[in-house]
Amino acid sequence: MITAGIFATIITVVVDVSDGSSLNLAERTVPAGAQVGIPLGSQLRATTVGTMTGKSPTINRAPTVSSAPGKVLVVTAHPDDVDFGAAGTVASWTKDGSEVAYCIITDGAAGSVERGVAVGELQRRRQAEQRAAATTLGVSSVTFLGYPDGRLEVTYELRREVSRVIRQVRPDRVVCQSPERNWKRIRASHPDHLAAGEAALEAVYPDARNPYAHPELLAAGLEPFEVGEVWLMASPRPDTFVDITAYMDLKISALTCHESQIADAGRLGELVRDWGRSTAEVAGLPAGSYAEAFQVVDTH
Ligand SMILES: [Zn+2]
Repeated sequence: MITAGIFATIITVVVDVSDGSSLNLAERTVPAGAQVGIPLGSQLRATTVGTMTGKSPTINRAPTVSSAPGKVLVVTAHPDDVDFGAAGTVASWTKDGSEVAYCIITDGAAGSVERGVAVGELQRRRQAEQRAAATTLGVSSVTFLGYPDGRLEVTYELRREVSRVIRQVRPDRVVCQSPERNWKRIRASHPDHLAAGEAALEAVYPDARNPYAHPELLAAGLEPFEVGEVWLMASPRPDTFVDITAYMDLKISALTCHESQIADAGRLGELVRDWGRSTAEVAGLPAGSYAEAFQVVDTH
């Protein structure tokens, strides 16, 4: 256990630079309590995406399909999850011309800072909040699967419904939650998040690409589709970092759309900036930067 505030953890960070070579920043001291869990002594391959100069973000990590994928599908458990984990990254992709779609699995009916909100009313509010946040980031569509909030399980039916959306959207890249518990960020590992991540991964491989899985999808004209790459949010083993410095204000704007979830908007902004700053430090980005972290999985 490391006491928060003590600068004690030594890791080696390797940052890919724009010409594809690696710049070894070596033996960096990372503040304990940084928002990314790093195994002690591990070597972390950090990828910088974007620059401080306003240039469009670029990704220098094989085997990503492209720096700005044509289509991205984000699958999360709750309204607001994507905005906490990946709003800056999503904003960078839409700015570069990517088409981004969201699939929100639960109805969000178990989350509010107010007491006594009628369940149907809360569902409507949370959907409207997520649509507004999506619009803020230039996201083209939001699909709500409507599963009950707080009791999500990885069922064959859920795998089919996520596979259905994958076959409809046909994304180059899926972003979802890590099915693996992050012991350093226990609140990122809500049981619904773990289930949503597992179901999304099982839909990516093998269901969506297997013509014999969920035959009713094929019967409905939805051809099998192979997603090449998955980006996991809140992973205990992040290996890819996105510089979201230019998009931090947009991320906070998207988050503040979720009014039903916010008790103190000012405090939320401070917290999100603190997290982004800590993640940027782990990635070896310059002071004043913000970042989001992912574990990228090649699914071919
Ligand atoms: Zn959540």
